[in-house]
Amino acid sequence: MNTALYPWQQGVWQQWQTVLASGTWPHAILLAAESGTGRGVLTRQLAEVLLCQNSETQACGLCHSCSLLKAGTHPDYHQVAPAEAGKQIGVDAVRQANRWAMETSQLGGCRVIEIQYANRLGEAAANAVLKTLEEPPAGCFYLLTTDSTDMLLPTIVSRCMVWRQPEVSAEVLEQWGYGQGLALHSDLARLYRHSPLKLLDDAGVSAETHQEVLRLVNQYLQPPYLGMTECVKALEKAGAEGLYWCHCLLMDVLKYQQGVGCDYWFHQEAQQTVVAVAQHVNTHVVIAQLTALQQLQSALSLHTGLNQSLMIAQWLTEFSKGDVSVS
Ligand SMILES: [Zn+2]
Repeated sequence: MNTALYPWQQGVWQQWQTVLASGTWPHAILLAAESGTGRGVLTRQLAEVLLCQNSETQACGLCHSCSLLKAGTHPDYHQVAPAEAGKQIGVDAVRQANRWAMETSQLGGCRVIEIQYANRLGEAAANAVLKTLEEPPAGCFYLLTTDSTDMLLPTIVSRCMVWRQPEVSAEVLEQWGYGQGLALHSDLARLYRHSPLKLLDDAGVSAETHQEVLRLVNQYLQPPYLGMTECVKALEKAGAEGLYWCHCLLMDVLKYQQGVGCDYWFHQEAQQTVVAVAQHVNTHVVIAQLTALQQLQSALSLHTGLNQSLMIAQWLTEFSKGDVSVS
């Protein structure tokens, strides 16, 4: 048990320790894990071990290397990441990393280069990474992280040992949330299995706001179709997360309409809401609105300055333009 890690990371960590103990750590690894799973914490632990002067499997925390890492001044540890959130990693940053890779270790050990958000490498940058991975410099370890391996050049993936963060179980998440003082209901735990740390940041996620959004959406989608303004306000307040909840609710509705049992739904505690919506919105409207929602989410995440409330209102209006009532 590594107490610096989240409970869902212990499995990958144990496997890493086995490889480290065997003395066959590869020159490049790729960790595929959603950005809200704390993947940086995991790679940081690994970098500490690789650079530690006293231990092969667990950083001692006492040596010169461990002290420098703690102080954030280790000369053999380099990180590459997009300069701004949502932006790509440019080729210049990778060229700089490649120069570090060719240098001699300043502490006489190895060098570690961590490329965060490898899925955001621009084309030239990805080719520059590939060139180094094809002829890895001696004593240099590359740690790459990505949301998904699908977004990377297959030639980069094939040159790395790939590790995937297994999906976090709702039970583990609920238990962890309890320890963090979060009042999670099990629906919320199921909604955040892919990126649990979102529950900690200030993204407007709480059991109350989630329940309120569900209540207002449910009310608006049933005769007499009232409360559009409140619904828009609640969704705007909950931001990207509110739209994500709508996506999951509509996915559950679709599953219900197709006869998929509630064990496979996100909303199991709120299954009455799922059934109520499913009885008032036709399947073809659900599918069309899921597609429209995806476009709305993408537009709002890519462009700032859009009229969010107007766009949400337009999306909600589309429900009534379709054949809303089930005959
Ligand atoms: Zn150490």
